[in-house]
Amino acid sequence: MQITEIYKSLQGESTYAGLPCVFVRLTGCNLRCSWCDSEFSFHGGKKMTLQEVLTEVARLSPSGGLVEITGGEPMLQERDVIPLMEQLLDADYQVLLETSGERPLARVPKQVIKIVDVKCPHSGEPDTFALENLETLRPHDELKFVLTDRTDYEFARDFVVRHRLAERVHAILFSPAFEKAASGARDTSHCLLDPQELAQWILEDNVPARLSLQIHKLIWDPAAKGV
Ligand code: SF4
Repeated sequence: MQITEIYKSLQGESTYAGLPCVFVRLTGCNLRCSWCDSEFSFHGGKKMTLQEVLTEVARLSPSGGLVEITGGEPMLQERDVIPLMEQLLDADYQVLLETSGERPLARVPKQVIKIVDVKCPHSGEPDTFALENLETLRPHDELKFVLTDRTDYEFARDFVVRHRLAERVHAILFSPAFEKAASGARDTSHCLLDPQELAQWILEDNVPARLSLQIHKLIWDPAAKGV
């Protein structure tokens, strides 16, 4: 499979945030989100066999733990990434899959925790989430909405209610988008939507969502890669 990078860091944006995690970033994406911070994964990378990826994960985290499969869009390499997830589960890793939900998710092993990033209107990629993937969700999965403004918030709020997401998944994450070119200051001044404003909206509407900040951008320089 085509791999951009494999590295160990702290998980940054889910209910697993703060935990040590090995990231396996697959190359290639079929979307172009306006706030994407992973454009370096669109092209290039290197071809690695399943065994080479497993060996590198084991080197970084020899005694199990959390592994996140991310991208790009990892499900574009479904033929290779499904066996990778199966083998990681067999080796007793806890596996997270970060995906836009644009590709079918029916073949993802049921033990994998899906973190599905449903694209909002101002992502530049609205309506790309495949609604049939709602039926693949399991109680341990998480749905994430990256928000830039009130329009995005209202879309996410209404989507949560319309599809009764609180009954389907473990967590619904509302995350302010970060400026794409942010660097230097490690604070929320780089958020495109003020977290305080978002917090007020969530409280006013009593949305069953949790405010989620990308903690890796508050710990390290927002422009840093491999963290
Ligand atoms: S789906 Fe993810 S990797 Fe692809 S453009 Fe959007 S944010 Fe970037």
